[in-house]
Amino acid sequence: MDSPKTLLAAINLFSDPENCRQFMVSVRWPNGVVRCPTCGSEKVTYMEKSRLYNCRTKHAKQKFSLKVGTIFEDSPIGLEKWLCGSSLRQRMGSVRMSFTDRLALLKRARGSCFTVSASQ
Ligand SMILES: [Zn+2]
Repeated sequence: MDSPKTLLAAINLFSDPENCRQFMVSVRWPNGVVRCPTCGSEKVTYMEKSRLYNCRTKHAKQKFSLKVGTIFEDSPIGLEKWLCGSSLRQRMGSVRMSFTDRLALLKRARGSCFTVSASQ
């Protein structure tokens, strides 16, 4: 999956948790095969409801999310919000904008990114 080219594209893309999942998978596992962060096994099942993976090898922490082993791991914030936020920061850093414009953009982005499911 390609990185979104514009902020709007990022907001649209990452407001869907399934897109976030696919994006994270493509970033972490370029061959698209998700591996268990504990034992490295490829025998993992994705549980759509809980948005968790379950390793079929018996060990502690069989269930894991895509945040495990990343800088997002300890955050209670959902992945889609992180991806949206980091995309936002990238765009803002590279564009010359007035403070008011930045504020307006932030408010809009927050409206889209941060109203996404609170179910995580
Ligand atoms: Zn495992």
